[in-house]
Amino acid sequence: MDALVLEEKLNLSLRDFPIEREEKLGPRDVRIKLHTVGICGSDVHYYTHGKIGPFVVREPMILGHEASGTVLEIGSEVTTLREGDRVCMEPGIPDPNSRATRLGKYNVDPAVRFWATPPVHGILRPACVHPEAFTFKLPDNVSFAEAAMVEPLAVGVHAATKARIKPGDIAVVLGAGPIGLVTALSALAGGCARVYVSDLAEKKLEIAESLSRAIIGVQVGKDDLAERVKRDTDGWGVDVLFEASGSPKAASTVFEPLAPGGCVVMIGGQSDPISYDTGAAMIREARVENIFRYAHVFPRCVAMLSSGAIDVKPLITRKFEFKDSVRAFEIAASAPPADVKMQIELPQ
Ligand SMILES: [Zn+2]
Repeated sequence: MDALVLEEKLNLSLRDFPIEREEKLGPRDVRIKLHTVGICGSDVHYYTHGKIGPFVVREPMILGHEASGTVLEIGSEVTTLREGDRVCMEPGIPDPNSRATRLGKYNVDPAVRFWATPPVHGILRPACVHPEAFTFKLPDNVSFAEAAMVEPLAVGVHAATKARIKPGDIAVVLGAGPIGLVTALSALAGGCARVYVSDLAEKKLEIAESLSRAIIGVQVGKDDLAERVKRDTDGWGVDVLFEASGSPKAASTVFEPLAPGGCVVMIGGQSDPISYDTGAAMIREARVENIFRYAHVFPRCVAMLSSGAIDVKPLITRKFEFKDSVRAFEIAASAPPADVKMQIELPQ
């Protein structure tokens, strides 16, 4: 059966790909039939630019890393999963013996192999082999579509964890894309009383505000975020600011709405070095955190989707059949303002 292959920049095809016939099932692996795969900004970026930073697509590569599916087969030493289990998968596999992994920071292991990051193939294909340790069983009340949102949600939950949110904190999220919105939901689930979300696009802010009455949209270019925050907090500022826009301009202003002693979490990727105001950071004794993907977060995300602590369903704005996945990527590359997350469903 076919896979969605990025042949080179701006050239996608649905075609037979030999990877599945080559993939061996190890004793602690499971074979998974893919069900739903989300289209991520990084997949789209590889499609439109052929690279992200140092990762360059030099050979045809299968796209996709946000996935859910069903276990088809288990390795001889697998104990926690069985055939027929519905699962979601964490896409980055570290070296289990590396120093970073042994320190519990496997996401920053330089040897990590991450789906759809050259030269590692993604999972827009019928089936894949994955380690049991990075495959998570779904409760019956979590759908395949929600489960394919666990990967982006994990970024938001990891960011909220790094921020060390306390109940009643007030937060700002810069950027109302998928990551900005899952971060806002994670901040609320972590105890924030209120989250301001800023973006240029009015439509995205409408979606943000529809998620919770504790989310307040602030339109860049129309409202002044720092002024608005000051007005609402008696001039004090917010406890936490999440930078999820990836815009150098937005990132240069991160300390303006921040309260003394507050925390900034940098989430959005920047392709070039950026500058920010260290003087403004100093007078606040601001704490700055950086995150790279996530670690040990998937089970928490699954638990929150199951309990209803977080609802990602409103973020899934469009679905495509696998046979239409080239068109799905063309649409995603045009960045429609009313869409948050587009997903592709594989034939079952
Ligand atoms: Zn992603």
